[in-house]
Amino acid sequence: MIFTSTYQSSLRATFKEVVLSTMPYSGGLYIPVEIPRIESHFSKSLRDRPYSELASEVLKIFLGDSLELPLLSDLCRNAYPFSPVLQQLEENTWVLELFHGPTLAFKDFGVRFMAQLLSHYQNSMKPLTILTATSGDTGGAVASAFHTLPGIEVFILFPKGKISLLQERQMTSLGDNIHAFPVEGNFDLCQKIVKEAFADKDIRSQRTLSSANSINLARLIPQICYYAYAISKLPDYSSIFSVPSGNFGNLTAGLMAKRMGFPVEQFVAATNQNDIVPRFLESREYLVKPFIETLSTAMDIADPSNFVRIQALYGNNFDNMKLDILGKSVNDESTKKAMRELKKLSYIADPHTAVAYEALKSAVPEKKDVNKIFLATAHPIKFQESVEEVLGEKLSVPGEVKKLLSGVPSTRVSLKGFQDLKEILV
Ligand SMILES: *Cc1c(COP(=O)(O)O)cnc(C)c1O
Repeated sequence: MIFTSTYQSSLRATFKEVVLSTMPYSGGLYIPVEIPRIESHFSKSLRDRPYSELASEVLKIFLGDSLELPLLSDLCRNAYPFSPVLQQLEENTWVLELFHGPTLAFKDFGVRFMAQLLSHYQNSMKPLTILTATSGDTGGAVASAFHTLPGIEVFILFPKGKISLLQERQMTSLGDNIHAFPVEGNFDLCQKIVKEAFADKDIRSQRTLSSANSINLARLIPQICYYAYAISKLPDYSSIFSVPSGNFGNLTAGLMAKRMGFPVEQFVAATNQNDIVPRFLESREYLVKPFIETLSTAMDIADPSNFVRIQALYGNNFDNMKLDILGKSVNDESTKKAMRELKKLSYIADPHTAVAYEALKSAVPEKKDVNKIFLATAHPIKFQESVEEVLGEKLSVPGEVKKLLSGVPSTRVSLKGFQDLKEILV
């Protein structure tokens, strides 16, 4: 597969270049020049395959000769010792659970593939240092995905006292090649320190740096596979997927699956009150407002980084985009209502998942011959406090999580600024 950029259509890059550089130097984001199409019987042929095999089959078609099949199979086997779970809740309505990975959120799907791939590519380079700032969930996924991979060291910066205990333990409990540091300040300071490190000559002379950034296509492309997984198991009708969205990587992957030829009728772009995309689909105006804090914190994003990719996929044709994507914003009150409704169906959903459910119900009219699926992006225990408060009941805590929470706290010193990090890195 060959890649170009959203900014400069004459640019050409290989998959390896795309993964190692994350962003083109000339600006914009990488996108495929052309998306390969599947044969019509392909989705059904995947039906009984274990997830890791299904993923390597789908990625083989998408990436073409960028990665050989035996290598791709190895990467997927290592990345995916777990699988999505598709559950039927009502007639025509399913939930696609994407939180059965080690950190209980869907980011495991992208980050774990990327970690395996970087570990494969890094053999030919200087030892690789992953340096990343996190406001919570990404750090845990990165820590778990890169833990014990040879030749890679990971440094994660998080704002001290501003993340949940579970999130903190997911980063700090691993040890080995994973170094997680609290920072005396907020997430912005964490990001600023990381930026300074990337610009620092002394650090760069000694280490090859990568950020495991969410706009890297190595994180986005493998997310195509769980759409294929759901479709392979659903009845033969066309499907509508509701995707709880923040930076819109998840939805971009879904749109690519549709472009490959997987039978998807439409997508619901489900957001919380940070509703720039639903507003755009309504008015054609892309107007950035300051972000609003909501219950679904991982989707509190004012200006989604992947939206230019979606526009590029449609050649900037608004009308065609609007045929495929229904925009729907859900406020906190409706999110809570949806969580209570789901509980009546004996389903405990976290707030992000509830946004997707509510958006699906209100944006898609009752229709018979269509499968309606909403994506569950986090296990409810990841948002224990808000779920317990909304539902008025205690959640049962999975054994793994209990163990993590009762472990010995890390005693790492906190960083005050860039110099503290530099002393550690050089
Ligand atoms: C990151 C995240 C999202 C948003 O996904 P995008 O790909 O950024 O749109 C939704 N739900 C949860 C739980 C997340 O962690």
